[in-house]
Formats: sequence, structure tokens, C-alpha cells
Amino acid sequence: MSFVPIVCGKKDWDKEYEQSAQYNSLYCPNCHNYNVRPVKRREFIAIWFIPVFPFFVGKQLVCPVCNWRQDFKNDEQLQKVVKEQSNIRQGKVGA
Ligand SMILES: [Zn+2]
Repeated sequence: MSFVPIVCGKKDWDKEYEQSAQYNSLYCPNCHNYNVRPVKRREFIAIWFIPVFPFFVGKQLVCPVCNWRQDFKNDEQLQKVVKEQSNIRQGKVGA
């Protein structure tokens, strides 16, 4: 009889956000590139590489360059970030 360990791990993936095309060049405060885009983030506990139990489902801004991530709750919050960012680009911070 052979012993088969249960392989338990984590499986996660990013799904494209609906408005990704519109918001795919946001500013990354970590690496200062304009590559940040919104994604739907899902993380599951996986047994034998099969996702069985979700422990995080949410929306995040992701930088593909440095893997910086920030959660956001809804479109309203995303719009706010986008607006703030357009101010940063135009050099109107603090004005
Ligand atoms: Zn970055």
C-alpha cells in the first residue's frame, strides 16, 4: 500500500475587468510605470490542483511590471483613482 499525500495548495488567477481597455495605463506608485490595469482577482484553496474553496474574490489594480496590487471595491472607487491619476499626469497634484 502506498501513501499518497494530499497536495493542498493555492490557485489564483486574474480575470480581465470589463473596462480594462479603458483603464489599462494607470500609474504604478511602486515602479512608476503606466501599466497598471484593473482585474478581477480570485484565490482558491486547491486540493490536487482543483480549486475547491474560495478565500478571496475581489477587484484589484495590478501592475504587470512589478506585481504591485491594490484592492478596490467598485467602479466608483476606480473612477476616483482614474480621476486622481489624470490630475497627477497634468501636474495638478496639491493644486
Ligand atoms: Zn509597478
